[in-house]
Amino acid sequence: MIPVSSWGRLTALAHQTVAVNDPAGIADCLRQSALPGVAHGMGRSYGDVCLNPGGTLWMTAGLDHLIAFDDVSGRLVCEAGVLLRDIQRLAIPRGWILPVTPGTQMVTVGGAIANDVHGKNHHVLGSFGDHLISLTLLRTDGQVLHCGPGELPDWFAATVGGLGLTGVIVQAEIQLRRVAGPWLDTETMAYAGLEAFFELADASEADWEHTVSWIDCLAGGQGRGLFMRANPVDAGPRPLPRARRLTMPFVPPVSLVNRLSLRPFNLAYFHLNQWKAGRALAHYESFFYPLDNLSQWNRMYGPRGFYQYQSVVPREAGLDAVREMLAAIAQSGDGSFLAVLKTFGNRQAPGMLSFARPGVTLALDFPNHGDRTHRLFERLDAIVQAAGGRIYAAKDARMPRALFESGYPRLAEFQKYRDPGISSGLSRRLMGN
Ligand SMILES: Cc1cc2nc3c(=O)[nH]c(=O)nc-3n(C[C@H](O)[C@H](O)[C@H](O)COP(=O)(O)OP(=O)(O)OC[C@H]3O[C@@H](n4cnc5c(N)ncnc54)[C@H](O)[C@@H]3O)c2cc1C
Repeated sequence: MIPVSSWGRLTALAHQTVAVNDPAGIADCLRQSALPGVAHGMGRSYGDVCLNPGGTLWMTAGLDHLIAFDDVSGRLVCEAGVLLRDIQRLAIPRGWILPVTPGTQMVTVGGAIANDVHGKNHHVLGSFGDHLISLTLLRTDGQVLHCGPGELPDWFAATVGGLGLTGVIVQAEIQLRRVAGPWLDTETMAYAGLEAFFELADASEADWEHTVSWIDCLAGGQGRGLFMRANPVDAGPRPLPRARRLTMPFVPPVSLVNRLSLRPFNLAYFHLNQWKAGRALAHYESFFYPLDNLSQWNRMYGPRGFYQYQSVVPREAGLDAVREMLAAIAQSGDGSFLAVLKTFGNRQAPGMLSFARPGVTLALDFPNHGDRTHRLFERLDAIVQAAGGRIYAAKDARMPRALFESGYPRLAEFQKYRDPGISSGLSRRLMGN
């Protein structure tokens, strides 16, 4: 048994870890687990969806083989532990790109499927599961299921966004998308007020593939922020930016993100970027994955770790709900540096428990101050629930069960596809087993 943490570093509880590197040996590995297990990719989820304290973690990052790539059709077959970073580096020079990626490329294909991750282009291309041709699922009883939108579609819909609870994904076939190169034509604009945010988001939907905004949540309900949008562009051959990778080398004794540091930091970030606003050419890594440049940045939050609170609320209720949430956060004094506000498009999600749905999503990081932080979350939960919204399980470590049940109306249907040999911290907390 060894201590394992997820990205939020809230706990480091003991787990039995089993490396699953060889596809041929996985069935034995699952069958022989004395304790219920769950797959664990890169542990980039913030809470307990990828943890199983007291039980087994099947460490799948060793399933890292690219199996086939057709550079005429853009179809890629790979094992489930392959990193999105490695797919991008293989495919982009050959004229193809992953259609959907989250804000870090250091995640596995299996993790991206199990949380049905979204990127900055949901309004155009939906979520990760929308681009899967098929996947291979191994159940703990040894059954192998090959499923996709046209083959065992119910198993596919349960497994995409299925939080690792339907089996271990061993392999996937992904349809990549044509791209001219690694460059994006980007535009950054400052905005004042949430109405301005929604106007920019609506005006950008038709012509811009990627949209996202950073919002200063300490500015109160008015919401001052920076809106960023981008389109892939053929910028011809040009020198690639020099990679500047830094590491947060240690865990400071207290969180560096605190009441004293946040206000000046947010102010400085806003003014610096407002000054730089305008059109620019950006490399995909710096636009899509800015946080990957500082590895282990999660250590900044000190020994108690941090929470991410990501909600989505329907568009009709969005303006008022986001305003109320920002006001509650500003009032609490516990603001967030990394506050991201973005609209999701009007698309039906591929998974029964997929997070992305039409509406507006707000994601905020908070240092863990125990009860004080939980009291703020209770206020935010009430706003999300009243607005008919939901919380993202990939980021969650504490949502109440009632909010999970109301946010995910297909939960009862999903339960039929669960693998009885699989359990996680999150499944026990929110589903009882
Ligand atoms: C900086 C940062 C930015 C992020 N930005 C976004 C974003 O923009 N959009 C977004 O949607 N998410 C985002 N995330 C969350 C992240 O994309 C997801 O949590 C992702 O699922 C993590 O993948 P992982 O490989 O680390 O999987 P883990 O976190 O280890 O596991 C996640 C889930 O996948 C399951 N799983 C993993 N491998 C398998 C497998 N082979 N078979 C079955 N189940 C499996 C696990 O059991 C667990 O339920 C971000 C995270 C970070 C740290």
